[in-house]
Amino acid sequence: MLTISYLTLLYFIFGSVIGSFLGVCAYRIPMGRYEPIHEGVKELGRTLSLTRPARSFCPSCQQQLAWWHTIPIVSWLILRGRCGHCGARVPFRYLFIELVTGALCALIFLRFGPTVTGVVAFGFVCLLIVITFIDLDYMIIPDVITYPATAIGLVIGVINRYLPAHDGRVIGYPFVSSPWESLYGLMMGPGLLLTVWWLYFKIRKREGLGLGDVKLLAVLGATFGMQCAWFTIFVGSILGSIIGMSLLLVRRGSLASYIPFGPYLAVAATAYIFDAHLLIAHFIDRTVPLTWWITR
Ligand SMILES: [Zn+2]
Repeated sequence: MLTISYLTLLYFIFGSVIGSFLGVCAYRIPMGRYEPIHEGVKELGRTLSLTRPARSFCPSCQQQLAWWHTIPIVSWLILRGRCGHCGARVPFRYLFIELVTGALCALIFLRFGPTVTGVVAFGFVCLLIVITFIDLDYMIIPDVITYPATAIGLVIGVINRYLPAHDGRVIGYPFVSSPWESLYGLMMGPGLLLTVWWLYFKIRKREGLGLGDVKLLAVLGATFGMQCAWFTIFVGSILGSIIGMSLLLVRRGSLASYIPFGPYLAVAATAYIFDAHLLIAHFIDRTVPLTWWITR
């Protein structure tokens, strides 16, 4: 028991370090490419890229951060969410991303173990985290993320079909087992979402979805198969309706409360990686035993 909690802590710390990097990715990848939708994100010139400058810096005073300013979670708490040089506010979201990535990392490796499947699953969750925060800032899901990720999904299918592994496949469930399953998911996911897009457009006479959402569904379909794409649309829509309506009520219907669809899809897809569909199946249809979810 002690070893498990010790390992969990290690996974959490590892995840929070990765999360620290994801916060930087979500900040830098769209910069110079797109126009942000709110004031929270400042334009810092077109010279900024993921690797340049290599070290983190404060966007307010432009000073390079010392190493002890950049310890995940701890630095934010000790400096009380302020820059160590000039005292400018460091957004809460950096702490949030580090906490969430740490927690998800621990959960994934507890579920999948230190396996190839676990590593790939964590990689995809990281991708979803970056997509979520870029979509919140820019209402865009960048092609530089979705196109390569769709290709990776297809590659996973090829690897699982043609690379020998002693227990079935190299990258296990919930990933696709063959390139055919991957291609099928690729067609069925975006296809369904385009139908939803068309229906919404017909009824409301305006676009309810961005094409970025469709491309994210393509990633999920190619990587986890058709079932994941359907589950994500379904659960993402329900989440979006519930939270969207609550926000409308709380903020008295201001349009500023509009949240892009991408984050809901990301949350739903993460739930799918943890077999939320089996859990839901258990509660809808009692003949599905709960042990399915536990032993998976
Ligand atoms: Zn500063």
